[in-house]
Formats: sequence, structure tokens, C-alpha cells
Amino acid sequence: MDYNTIIVRFGEMSTKGKNKKDFINKLAGSILSHLKKFEDDFELVKRHDHIYLNLKEENQEIIDILKEVPGMYSFSLALKTDITDLDELKDFVLEQIKKEDGQTFKMKTRRIDKSFPYNSDEINRILAGHILKNTSLKVDVHNPDIMFNVEIRDDGIYLFTQTIKGLGGYPKGAIGRSLMMLSGGIDSPVAAYLMMKRGIEISCIHFASPPYTSSAVILKLQDILKELTTFQNKIHLYIVPFTKIQEEIYNHSFQGYEVTIMRRMMYRLAEKLARKVHIYSICNGESLGQVASQTIESLYAINAVTNYPIIRPLSTFDKVDIIKISKDINTYDISIRPYEDCCTIFPIKKPKTAPKIEDCLKIEERFDYETLLNEAIENTEIKIIKAE
Ligand code: ATP
Ligand code: MG
Repeated sequence: MDYNTIIVRFGEMSTKGKNKKDFINKLAGSILSHLKKFEDDFELVKRHDHIYLNLKEENQEIIDILKEVPGMYSFSLALKTDITDLDELKDFVLEQIKKEDGQTFKMKTRRIDKSFPYNSDEINRILAGHILKNTSLKVDVHNPDIMFNVEIRDDGIYLFTQTIKGLGGYPKGAIGRSLMMLSGGIDSPVAAYLMMKRGIEISCIHFASPPYTSSAVILKLQDILKELTTFQNKIHLYIVPFTKIQEEIYNHSFQGYEVTIMRRMMYRLAEKLARKVHIYSICNGESLGQVASQTIESLYAINAVTNYPIIRPLSTFDKVDIIKISKDINTYDISIRPYEDCCTIFPIKKPKTAPKIEDCLKIEERFDYETLLNEAIENTEIKIIKAE
């Protein structure tokens, strides 16, 4: 069947009652910005239960982009017609179903405009009867090759056979904003994707330790973020100089506490920066059990430095499942490029799996970390990564 309209459905979002209008506006805004380069090729119409994109002509690229925009449950490629007369509609439907592949069909009418003079069952019967008389197609109500949908609305009749699953989740920013701790590894880009899909607008923070870590890491992060602009088309990356802090940690720490203290400093920095840019949550790629710093006791000692909500979308994920998502979102090949990160440059013999907060505090008393942290925030560099 031809199509001239895309019907966008919200799914989970429609359960949100009075916030719904705000959500629809956010989704519409997000669709418009993702389809910027096609802005002259379609018109967007907002309705209370869905969004229409009225197209000048069929466009596969638009469909491919829509599949990746958070906040859409499904969408249908529909042919909208102004026909109101049932006899005319019969012939029009017949003409369209002949273009479909298959031997069996089922008519499925929804009469949303109750002023239409026939009810759904009557319309189904009349249209199906006409098709049976004029083609070799058979009816199969259980497992049809062609599910022929007819939606009768006050602004026209919409015909469609194809419904495509969307990404789900919520539209960009509908749930709020979060500062994502982005390393060069596999996990954090996947965590970032899950946040964006859930309607959280993210900005990213990276702790860089030059000259121990090379500038190639920054290029790597930019490449990762370029891929992630599929889901949020503009992402801020804050690069915080971390070298001095790290050196001080290694000068003053007890054996085994280096990673714990380092991560406490990362959380402190993330909170400081987040406050400065008016973001009120932090997220990262921590996954329980993956490394020494990701035991519950470790998280307790690390988390104690902040009252900020820390969101860990991957906390219960197995690595194989994380890798699968990273392949799906095209970040895997970038993430596995070899690099030194700030956790691997000072090898630690035996990182503590059950660090004590009292010991952390004893170590932290030995140097003026507050000044160093503030200095790092002052010298933070910012990059903005945009979709192509
Ligand atoms: P990843 O694969 O994301 O690097 P990981 O398994 O290597 O994660 P860790 O190195 O313990 O785990 O880091 C846990 C999380 O801490 C990362 O997912 C990331 O969110 C954050 N993180 C680690 N290093 C950095 C860094 N240099 N800059 C910003 N965030 C970082
Ligand atoms: Mg890492």
C-alpha cells in the first residue's frame, strides 16, 4: 500500500494523565529536531492521542530515523484519504489491498468519528465482502497475511497494513536531566543510551589524566557521542582535568584504597559540576560485581560523599547483555579501541572490596582535595557534539 502519513503512537507515555500535553510537545519537538534536514518534506500535526506526520512523498530515511527517537511506542505507515462515501471507499480499499502480498486478509476497522453512518462491524463486513467478490483473497481472522486497518477519524480515513515498533521510553528531557560519567569503556555509553531512551536528557563528564592518558581518549569519546546523537541530537561533554588529584591520591592513600578514594573524588567532582550547570542527578556505567569498586560495600563508601541521586542503569546487567546493546547502538567497536584510562595507569596490587569510610576520611585528611577539586572544575573544558 502507498502511504502519505505516518501515525505516531506514544504507548506508555499516554498513561501519564495531565503531563501528557507536555510530553506530546516534547516528543513533537524531538521529532522535528531529528528530522531537521527533511523539514520541507512533511508537516507535523499534534493530536491528543497521537502525532501525524503528513508527507509530501514516501521517504524511507524518515522512517529509519523515527525508529531511533525515544518516546514512540509504534508508528504506522498510513494512506490518508478524504473519501467519505462508503461506495467510493470500497473501491479505494480494493485498489490498495491489491498492492499487498499475501493470500489471506482481515479487515480491522476503528470508528473514532462516531458520526460516520455505519459501525465498525458493518464497515468490516461491507469492505471484506467487496474484496472477496473481486479478488482471490480469503479471510483469515486468526493469522492473516494482510491485516488491513481502517481508522475513521474526523479529519479523514486512514488505511494501513504496517505497524512498526518504536524505541519506546519517553521523549527527550520529559523525565529530567542527568550528568553521565563517561569513560572510554563499553559500559558507560550503554548506560547513557538507556538514560536517553528513558526520557532523560544527558550531559557527559569525563575525568582526563594527561599525560598518563592520551588525547586519543577524547577523540574516542567524541566518536562514541557522535553515535549517541542518534538518540539525542546535541550532547555536551565536560572534560575535567584529573591528573593532579590522582597523583595526590596515590601519594597519600593506604594500600588498596586508591580506587575507592579516586571514585569518591569523581563523585564529588560530578556533583560540583552538575550543580554549576543546574543538573540534579548523576548516572554512570557501574554494574554490581564487575570490579572491586562495584561491590555493595564499595558503593556504600563511594556513594557517601554525595546526596545526589546516582542512577546506575546497568547495575544488574550481565556483561554479555551490555555488549549486545553496545553492538546494537554502534558504540562497541569504538569502545574496544585500545586506550589507557585513568583507572589503569596506576596499577593497584589489591584493591579493597570492603573499604571503610573512616579509612577514606583518614586518607582524605592528608591533602587539601577541596582546593584541587575546585581548581579542576575551573579548568574544565567543554565540547558540544551534534548530529550530522
Ligand atoms: P566502562 O566500561 O564504562 O569504562 P568499567 O567497567 O571500566 O566501565 P569502572 O572503570 O569501574 O568500570 O567505571 C565505572 C563507571 O565509572 C564507568 O562506567 C563510568 O560511568 C565511570 N567512569 C570511570 N572512569 C571514568 C572517567 N575517566 N571519566 C568519567 N567517568 C568514568
Ligand atoms: Mg572504565
